[in-house]
Amino acid sequence: MADYTCTSCGAPVAVKNRFSKVIVCDYCGTHMKIQEEGGLNEQGKYPKLAVVPSIFKVGASGTILGKPFSALGFMRYKYSGGHFDEWFLDYDGQPSWFAEDEGTYTLYTNLEEAVDVSAVASLKPGMIFTLGGKKVMVKEKGNAEIEGGEGELSFYLEPGTKVSYIEGISEGKKISIEYSEDEVELFSGRVLLRRDIEVR
Ligand SMILES: [Zn+2]
Repeated sequence: MADYTCTSCGAPVAVKNRFSKVIVCDYCGTHMKIQEEGGLNEQGKYPKLAVVPSIFKVGASGTILGKPFSALGFMRYKYSGGHFDEWFLDYDGQPSWFAEDEGTYTLYTNLEEAVDVSAVASLKPGMIFTLGGKKVMVKEKGNAEIEGGEGELSFYLEPGTKVSYIEGISEGKKISIEYSEDEVELFSGRVLLRRDIEVR
């Protein structure tokens, strides 16, 4: 979509997706915001993340449930139990997130509901709340910290940012809420089997 050069090391960086807001230089790890008017704004340089086995790598493509995807980037979170990665995908032309967690796979698409941080922060496991007219049951709540990112991403939090997350269930779908001090990201997801995912 747009070709730039890294603000730090001058390496070529290509932004492939119109939903991307941030790109991480593959060579030096500099994080750059993609300006609406074009151009890149340097956010900082962070060490490259350790390679963790995954079914994807940045730039991978294939199909999920028979529809094309490309893996644009990922964010890594650390929490008390270890790490988890969330992949940003172009899935059949739509921005989507994909979570891989101990052999379970969930494909998330954004929900645009307005939810305020204080309402979300007071939820506890076992509670039921209403979202877009649907009942959601809270299954889990926890805290994590952004470790870093790679590739391009549709939303961005600086490494070191503390986030809280809530996992819920609504009508057989997974609901995932991530929130920091002033921002809430809300996703609705479906669980996939390994055979639903074909990586070329
Ligand atoms: Zn660079």
